[in-house]
Amino acid sequence: MASNQNQRARSATGNVLRVGGRKVRSAAIYARISSDVSGEKLGVARQLEDCRKLAEERGWHVGDEYVDNDISAYSGKPRPEYLRMLADLESGARDAVIVYNLDRLHRIPSELEDFISLCDRVGMHEVATVTADIDLGNDDGLFMARIFAAFAAKESGRKSARGKRKARQSAEAGLPHGPNRPFGYEDDKVTIRDSEAEIIRQLVNRLIAGESMRSLTTWLNSTDTPTVLGAARWRTTTVKSVICSARIAGLRTHNGEIVGPGIWEPIITVEQREQVLARFAERARSGRRAPRTYLLSGLLRCGRCDTPLMSSTKHKSPDKKVRRYICFNGPDRGGCGRLTVVAEPVEDLLRDSAFIRLDSDELRQAWEGRVKANPDLAQLNQEIEEDTRALTELAELYAARPRRITAAEWMAARDPIEARIRDARRAIAHVADSTGLSDLIGKGEILREQWPDLLIDRRQAIIKATLRYATIAPGTPGARSLDINRVQPLWRE
Ligand SMILES: [Zn+2]
Repeated sequence: MASNQNQRARSATGNVLRVGGRKVRSAAIYARISSDVSGEKLGVARQLEDCRKLAEERGWHVGDEYVDNDISAYSGKPRPEYLRMLADLESGARDAVIVYNLDRLHRIPSELEDFISLCDRVGMHEVATVTADIDLGNDDGLFMARIFAAFAAKESGRKSARGKRKARQSAEAGLPHGPNRPFGYEDDKVTIRDSEAEIIRQLVNRLIAGESMRSLTTWLNSTDTPTVLGAARWRTTTVKSVICSARIAGLRTHNGEIVGPGIWEPIITVEQREQVLARFAERARSGRRAPRTYLLSGLLRCGRCDTPLMSSTKHKSPDKKVRRYICFNGPDRGGCGRLTVVAEPVEDLLRDSAFIRLDSDELRQAWEGRVKANPDLAQLNQEIEEDTRALTELAELYAARPRRITAAEWMAARDPIEARIRDARRAIAHVADSTGLSDLIGKGEILREQWPDLLIDRRQAIIKATLRYATIAPGTPGARSLDINRVQPLWRE
């Protein structure tokens, strides 16, 4: 049974032993599920699917499939299909076995030993499994197989893999999921709760019409509608999570990706959802917030809790005011409320540092490296526009009643387009992130002279071109001047 001429071929989906490169003429696929409660029959379908894929990848012809369902290997009951497969192996009608996991074949050591001696007798060593590295053609493989059979130690791990698989199947079948009742639906997560659905439609329409999240949240709170978790007050983030969810457009997600239609009725259309997402994307781009009168607005973070600092003016007396950056803990801000820094010295420090950084070799080299790797921006933009149009057309075909394409067709067409858009956006972001920078590099000293004459927008653009953000560490209470160690900048590269 020693096997120094054995070749082991590996792949992403499985492992297999080829003895002396012998060609497999007719493989057997074996699948089994130990109990068929709660529709685990699907599990067999999945096992077979993966085994067939492995056979195809190996270029093995599949002679037959052998499926035992709902029979536990522990029970000692006969497994008719397993026995039929053994007979076919014995007769030479099959010369290889593909199985999802070795535990589908045997669970008790004596069964494995019988199988091994049969394999030895007929010279069949090709056992391919989708999940594990088993090699019955040499001593190491046999040892591993025996360990597999002797211990059910890996059982819990396999159970969890089966659980994940089941979760995916349930997602693909469009079944509802999640621990909580979704807003807009009853406890069965399928039946629409009219009162809440009406609220969702209003929120969506008003958002698309341009109303702010703050205003919508205030309105929702005025209706005295509790959240699904029973909270009396809504926050903008909770409202956003409801109206951005794919579910209210009748779509099922799995691990954050839309996998197809759900079995529940949609509250809004797919197009409306696209419009909602577009609104949020727009706002993120334009950064609609309080007007930026402070140089470092949005660029400082609290060293205690990492929350962005807000600008604030403290009036010490009618004609003396102090500008500050503060960690707020008000509603919707979520800061710790325990950090304050006087604005001017931080602004001066980071401004001067930015000038120095603009004139540094380090920044110039990083920039030149990126320009070399720079894809054609205009080209990328055009591709994104075309792909976005294609996505809209697809969504329309899918959303039409009756549907003009199936969910599977829609997904098959959509996925590569979305991947392309993502890649293009990433490439653009990588460059656009610093496009302002190309005009500024090497001009630190000039900008320092011009600074007093520059408008706040221009000043902010200069700082933002060089600085990602700076974290402000807690200071010593009562300290009169800024301790420069409190300012920890993260520069762009
Ligand atoms: Zn804080």
